[in-house]
Amino acid sequence: MRNTRSGKRRPQSSGHQHKKQFGQNFLNNNQIIDRIVASIRPQADDHMIEIGPGEAALTDPIIRVVKHLDIIEIDNDLIAPLKIKFATLPAFHLHHTDALKFDYAQLLQAEDEQLRVVGNLPYNISSPLMFHLLKFAANITDMHFMLQKEVVERICAQPGGKQFGRLSVMMQYYCKTEYLFDVGPENFTPPPKVDSAIVRLLPYKQKPVIADDEALFEKFVKQCFTLKRKTLRNNLKGWLDSEQIEACGISPSARSETLQVADFVKLCNFYQQHSE
Ligand code: SAM
Repeated sequence: MRNTRSGKRRPQSSGHQHKKQFGQNFLNNNQIIDRIVASIRPQADDHMIEIGPGEAALTDPIIRVVKHLDIIEIDNDLIAPLKIKFATLPAFHLHHTDALKFDYAQLLQAEDEQLRVVGNLPYNISSPLMFHLLKFAANITDMHFMLQKEVVERICAQPGGKQFGRLSVMMQYYCKTEYLFDVGPENFTPPPKVDSAIVRLLPYKQKPVIADDEALFEKFVKQCFTLKRKTLRNNLKGWLDSEQIEACGISPSARSETLQVADFVKLCNFYQQHSE
């Protein structure tokens, strides 16, 4: 593991005009960068993907350790500086493209290869991007993301809490989730209007519960949370009646916010079996 740097501020000398539409809030604090990299623990054997390198705050310490780093950046103005900085390093593989549309399977060098994903994500696309990446979960060991703090709270929330909702159920269905630590706005240039946090997502190689049809499960969970703080009976009108909800061992007057991930799977599988 590399030593922690003593200098706090990361120089922002390039004169790059930060673009709001690309969520460009660049990390400026070396101690925070070191803490994030220490949590990721890059290893010499890793094939990593970094989404949105920006001015390389995380890229720089990672690319010098791992054997292969695929870097995905959408902003044309950042491409040349990244090439100038890293083109001579064997690990450097740059993709000038939209991370939301990218086919991550094309990065695999073997069918069963395992990738690691990191990124200080543009907050406006973080949820769709995580769902897109989950399509490749069988080939992903772990993902470390900087996200809006409120989103990390929702991802990691437990049933019964205020934050527990659709995002919690879907992310916890696919991954073990870990809330790592908070990062304040002063650690970015320019500072975002919201607090941020780091989350670790570990896609299950064997899921604890399995929905028979995962596309349907996504729609079903969305339906369960349509009306906030309403009972399941209300939210599932036209899908399952009270008797059917009870047949799954769940009270029709329960609210979705109080259910376990396994309960949603049970209800969805029941719905699928009885709607055919
Ligand atoms: N990693 C850098 C850091 O921590 O300082 C920059 C993080 S900044 C929050 C987000 C980065 O993602 C920017 O470099 C931005 O240009 C890039 N980005 C935004 N939308 C993107 C997309 N759809 N695909 C790929 N990169 C994107």
